[in-house]
Amino acid sequence: RSGFVTLIGRPNVGKSTLMNQLVGEKIAIMSDKPQTTRNRIQSILTKEDFQVVFIDTPGIHKPKHKLGRYMVKVAETTLNEVDIVLMLVEPTTTIGQGDRIVLAALENVKTPVILVINKIDTIEKQALLEVIDSYKDAYNFAEIIPISAYTGENCDRLLEVIRERL
Ligand code: GDP
Ligand code: MG
Repeated sequence: RSGFVTLIGRPNVGKSTLMNQLVGEKIAIMSDKPQTTRNRIQSILTKEDFQVVFIDTPGIHKPKHKLGRYMVKVAETTLNEVDIVLMLVEPTTTIGQGDRIVLAALENVKTPVILVINKIDTIEKQALLEVIDSYKDAYNFAEIIPISAYTGENCDRLLEVIRERL
């Protein structure tokens, strides 16, 4: 199996860290280069029985960009062309402005969106349950997976869910 996955989320939620955890350091350095073309390949993860091509979504993660109608369209196109969208968030119950912008961009997206609650190494189990609850009504997520990109906790589960959906 193989397919295309894009990783979205506001700055500092841990997108680069997750990429490093899944694929390795070399590629994530590449992903910090200025984005010029649409649907740019960020990295490729090759496992024994599946392969994932990570695609960058231009516009949605650029802190300087106010998502104008054009940028929403560009982002939407990418989001609709991939097989899976991973949306990363912080493990907090408040859904911030940055997260709202990302959720707005997902409004007309048909691709399954997996909510990845990152940095669970920083919170208690009970708090995590509350975070999951607060996101349940925010969007029709295909799955909600808590992970720590930093420690690698539950990242194998995330990969398993990705594999199943390719
Ligand atoms: P990006 O802007 O979404 O690419 O976020 P980065 O990957 O650059 O991470 C932003 C900050 O969050 C860095 O200081 C990371 O070390 C930290 N970080 C990322 N993932 C985790 C995690 O799972 N746990 C903790 N404690 N920190 C994390
Ligand atoms: Mg980054």
